[in-house]
Amino acid sequence: MKREFDINKLVRESVRELKPYSSARDEYVSDGSEMVFLDANENPFNNGVNRYPDPQQRNLKALLAEQRGVAMENLLLGNGSDEVLDLIFRAFCEPKTDNIITSPPTYGMYKVLAGVNDVKNKEVLLTSDFEPNVEGILKAVDQNTKLLFLCSPNNPTGNCFSEKRIKHLLDSFEGLVVVDEAYIDFSEAESWLAQLQNYPNLIVTQTLSKAYGLAGIRLGICCASPGIISVLNKIKPPYNVNELTQQRALRHVLNPKMVHEEVRSILKERNELTKELLQFNFVLKIYPTDANFVLVKVDDADKRYQQLLDKGIVVRNRSTQPLCENTLRLTVGTQEENKKLIEALRSLN
Ligand SMILES: *Cc1c(COP(=O)(O)O)cnc(C)c1O
Repeated sequence: MKREFDINKLVRESVRELKPYSSARDEYVSDGSEMVFLDANENPFNNGVNRYPDPQQRNLKALLAEQRGVAMENLLLGNGSDEVLDLIFRAFCEPKTDNIITSPPTYGMYKVLAGVNDVKNKEVLLTSDFEPNVEGILKAVDQNTKLLFLCSPNNPTGNCFSEKRIKHLLDSFEGLVVVDEAYIDFSEAESWLAQLQNYPNLIVTQTLSKAYGLAGIRLGICCASPGIISVLNKIKPPYNVNELTQQRALRHVLNPKMVHEEVRSILKERNELTKELLQFNFVLKIYPTDANFVLVKVDDADKRYQQLLDKGIVVRNRSTQPLCENTLRLTVGTQEENKKLIEALRSLN
């Protein structure tokens, strides 16, 4: 619950002292009235994208904030969640000194970003039922542990983590807990956004790449206290979300009914697919999922992966991940695509 928390103690010294670049569009914020803009060396001939985009993406943020029941000051947008996650590393982790904790099997980017930022990644495996090992994680924490990554619903296992375990970690860990909610729109579980007020060390990341169907435009969302957001704002590239992305995202986010319909249809297809998968004797286990994919254990993942590939179907072989021996991760496609998958599986021997 609420406790003394000073974000400045976690920020890298160089970032704390940084005076951010001030762009032309940062200095003057249009109030909507007709102005003559001669401040940014742009080409004046209007083609829809001749002006620099709003560095604070105010229109889009206002809408996303309203839909999520948070304030605009709680939001930072990035070029996909991957940029958002990288900014978190660069703001809080001193290269060669600080470390982070991740819980494999999980999203591969945390480890890659740790490597890129020269930050040690301490891995504490999930338990056999794919829950965070709370005791193990807290044991791994030291003075230089800045970040803990929890992906819920988790990729590639598909499950949401227990609320009690996440709360325990938020209460006990003095660094920042990043809850990656890339798949939250497919889940019945409540978003951790509702807990932002209670946990000053909580960062929730979301994305328009999955349920919203906008992987191609690259739009990631970071939600946290205004203090954390202003640190990230200090170091983000001024124009990190381009104009086309802002326009397209705005149009899509204005149509929540369509997103909701698509999610409903994907979930219906997921349940059908799961039922169909039960018939194959080389499918040994279907893990419960809160996401738009299903992790299945098969008799021989390398063989089944190759067989599917030969039939023109690409799935993800997750066998190299710990606790995931002989597993394939199947993304739920359209009804037609899923039918093709089932037919292909039926023809295997
Ligand atoms: C797909 C995915 C993302 C999305 O990343 P973007 O850069 O926003 O496309 C983030 N986290 C997890 C766990 C994912 O599976």
